[in-house]
Amino acid sequence: MALYKEQQLKIYNSLTGKKEDFIPLLEGHVGMYVCGPTVYSNVHLGNVRTFMSFDMIFRYLKHLGYKVRYVRNITDAGHLTDDGDQGEDKIAKKARLEKIEPMEVVQQYTVDFHNILNTFNFLPPSIEPTATGHIIEQIEIIKKIIENGYAYEKNGSVYFDVVTFNKDHEYGKLSGRKLEDMIANTRALNAQDEKENPQDFALWKKAGPEHIMRWPSPWGDGFPGWHLECTAMSTKYLGDQFDIHGGGMDLKFPHHECEIAQNEAAIGTVPVRYWMHANMLTLNGQKMAKSTGNSINPGEIFTGDSPHLSKGFAPSAARFFVLQANYRSILDFSNDALIASEKGFNRLMEAMKIMKSLPTDTSSSMNVETWKQSCYDAMNDDFNSPILIAQLFEGVKQIHLIKDAKASITADDLKLLVHTMEAFVFDVLGLEDGDAFAKADDSKLSGAVELLIKLRKEARENKDFATSDKIRDELLALGIQLKDGREGTTFTVQ
Ligand code: AMP
Ligand code: ZN
Repeated sequence: MALYKEQQLKIYNSLTGKKEDFIPLLEGHVGMYVCGPTVYSNVHLGNVRTFMSFDMIFRYLKHLGYKVRYVRNITDAGHLTDDGDQGEDKIAKKARLEKIEPMEVVQQYTVDFHNILNTFNFLPPSIEPTATGHIIEQIEIIKKIIENGYAYEKNGSVYFDVVTFNKDHEYGKLSGRKLEDMIANTRALNAQDEKENPQDFALWKKAGPEHIMRWPSPWGDGFPGWHLECTAMSTKYLGDQFDIHGGGMDLKFPHHECEIAQNEAAIGTVPVRYWMHANMLTLNGQKMAKSTGNSINPGEIFTGDSPHLSKGFAPSAARFFVLQANYRSILDFSNDALIASEKGFNRLMEAMKIMKSLPTDTSSSMNVETWKQSCYDAMNDDFNSPILIAQLFEGVKQIHLIKDAKASITADDLKLLVHTMEAFVFDVLGLEDGDAFAKADDSKLSGAVELLIKLRKEARENKDFATSDKIRDELLALGIQLKDGREGTTFTVQ
């Protein structure tokens, strides 16, 4: 029997503000959409935290036996610098500054995003669609919204008519805002503004002659509004209604609010059954953000090369730090907090090894079944990973007591203990043994140095001594010494 039949999961639904029993639309299947990154710069640890929360959620849903279709998009067009309808496309701006093609920017940072997520042991989503790959779908949705009377065209741009929409629907229900209050609190429009109301938002923007990222449409050349891509891609792959939609808390308004409005205006259905929002990672009490410079890159965590850090940390230790906080709580980043997490993580990993060779007895001093259920209870309670980790440490405590002959366990119970610890630590939390990372890193280093040794040999054979000396000297400066011998060249790391 599938685990989800025995374990009733509850999810905190941001739309209702309540923890609700999770009942998917189609038994045994889950459709989940999470807003992906805008690939105009390297991801920072705050972005990683949000995606990690949903990786843990994806992992637990799979663990419960659900067949999950997890869609996480790549935003490669339409996200403007003011996060609204004004400014330049973030990707086009980067391309202009770097004097490269926008799609080179997209490629570079998509690769970076994937590399970072792989290093943190993320599971890949089932589908990773891009905004530029779904322009036709976005145009079709705009046509439907205009047909239904909830959007208007102005000078080659199309805007969503929030005021008309709010007459038959409720704009603001996700973020708990009232349209009247929003109108009262915003400045009046200027004469040159195209919008009829400041709350209206762009579905399609006319592209000026200088705008490189442009597509033909019934309203002329232009590009889609940022909110529209997620409506197009979520419904295309998951249906007009689907189970879970996630993202960071900062996307609730306007991005997700607008997604709901677009769906209701185009198709007439409430798209999402459970809205989930992950909370922010802060640095010195301020939201981590690229734009303010208040951010830390994952690469800096691994090397320790940052004024915020005293040393480097293994990816799994950083992952453990993130998952020790509830995904709905704010988490503040600090060197001390990371060091404390690393200690806990190492203690957990040590117990994972010890438990494999524990002595068994004729009776158990712990009730393993009850303990195992308490691990599930923690995760069934809206993916409460810190409580799960506290339960896993109950397991760690028992493992040490048994090792020190202060407690006992039967062979069957030990099997269950090992199986449960491994399932939660490796499969659900996605942690990896720190040694494994070090070994993988060693083999990568050896591979890279071997390649340089080969290039140096080729340079010498070509009498290019300048290059061969450069390779030797620069490796030495990095603490890698090459030794030439009769068997070839070897190296030592100092
Ligand atoms: P962006 O690439 O800016 O669209 O952001 C990608 C994801 O990272 C979104 O889900 C954001 O909500 C999330 N995010 C941005 N800053 C932070 C932060 N400081 N902490 C946690 N999540 C964040
Ligand atoms: Zn989105």
